[in-house]
Amino acid sequence: VIAPTISMDDAARREWDIIVVGAGPAGALAARESARWGAAVLLVDRAQFPRPKVCGCCLNGRALGVLKSVGLSSILADLGAVPLQRACISNPIREARVQIPVGMSVSREALDAALLQSAIGAGASFLPRTRAALDRKSCDHRRVSLHGIEHTAIARARVVIAANGLASELLERETGAACVWPNARLGLSALCARVPSFYRRGTIYLACGPGGYVGLVRLEDERLEVAAALDPVAMRRAGGPTKLASSLIDSARWPPVPSLSDGRWHGTPLLTRIPTARAAERLFAVGDAAGYIEPFTGEGIGWALAGGRALAPLAVRAGKRWQPSFVHEWEAVYRKTVRDKQQACWSVTRLLRSAVLTTAMLGVMSVMPASARLLLERMNRPEWSPGGRGEWRS
Ligand SMILES: Cc1cc2nc3c(=O)[nH]c(=O)nc-3n(C[C@H](O)[C@H](O)[C@H](O)COP(=O)(O)OP(=O)(O)OC[C@H]3O[C@@H](n4cnc5c(N)ncnc54)[C@H](O)[C@@H]3O)c2cc1C
Repeated sequence: VIAPTISMDDAARREWDIIVVGAGPAGALAARESARWGAAVLLVDRAQFPRPKVCGCCLNGRALGVLKSVGLSSILADLGAVPLQRACISNPIREARVQIPVGMSVSREALDAALLQSAIGAGASFLPRTRAALDRKSCDHRRVSLHGIEHTAIARARVVIAANGLASELLERETGAACVWPNARLGLSALCARVPSFYRRGTIYLACGPGGYVGLVRLEDERLEVAAALDPVAMRRAGGPTKLASSLIDSARWPPVPSLSDGRWHGTPLLTRIPTARAAERLFAVGDAAGYIEPFTGEGIGWALAGGRALAPLAVRAGKRWQPSFVHEWEAVYRKTVRDKQQACWSVTRLLRSAVLTTAMLGVMSVMPASARLLLERMNRPEWSPGGRGEWRS
């Protein structure tokens, strides 16, 4: 268990440059990088770490590139992350096997705990099991109410970073409700210990069909991460997530995962959502809190890390002296760093709603593997640098 590095009373006694709410990949990296730039940073999470997270647990090339660029690539080797070599994508009619240029699978308990430790190592103070909410505004700082197990306190910061994941109540209370895609799906995942030998290390298995899709991948400790994006109506009709996920796996003609029925599912709110804004006065949103699309292309951690790294220098400047132009600056940096990279994911998400188009896509991928490679290479490209020097070094 990662212990708090500060008490709630001490956190409330001082004024912080930056309070980061949420210690997932976006928040942990934003906190680490801001602390490395010399800012006084308080990182707060409602969970105790290590904690599970609904996720397919695959890091793509962009995520690996960001970790490398900030000197953190060794954490994956230390955690025993599994290199990914291929994806096997199937629907009831066709199957395509695709070589993956680069990627790793690793459990979110291990990855997020390691990122958090690196933020603490860089000097960020950490307060777990504490839910944060925005309190009244003042002219030169933000008040943040901290709700712990036993008591509540108010902390102050010149800037707040909302890195609190999907359905970010922090941002939405400030800028209005996000726009949720009309036929958005729910995210679910379960960790399975008893795994048929068919499911090999280094391969991502993706079963698509009516009602959603399921991804299966072996983790560093041999457990199988089963993650799904499921239509809520189809899930109810099927009789629950285990039944719908099992029928998708079955229609891909893959062996059943027996421990799926005794595994506990964790769920998310509706996935695909775009907030009306990503910043407000003394408030920046990053990671899933800044908008999310479905997980089929496995890019969310990469977007979160890239956003966290890009936000840090701006948050540090804002923590020294706030200027209203920072709101537009973050929108512009976010667009170039993350939003422009989400186009391929949007296209795939739309295409997956049609069985005919999904079958056609799998057909093209199986007879022309180069087409799949091109798409994967595009999604793995390193991203734009706000320093104006072209791309980040990675
Ligand atoms: C089914 C599914 C499969 C996925 N598969 C992949 C994949 O294979 N590869 C990939 O790259 N991405 C994948 N993703 C996406 C990925 O999980 C997210 O994009 C990523 O976790 C976003 O990181 P984040 O730091 O923004 O938020 P999170 O990781 O969600 O972290 C947010 C943190 O904020 C904390 N928090 C929330 N509210 C508060 C509050 N009020 N106060 C204090 N703390 C708070 C939470 O406890 C949490 O720790 C998948 C997503 C889903 C749903």
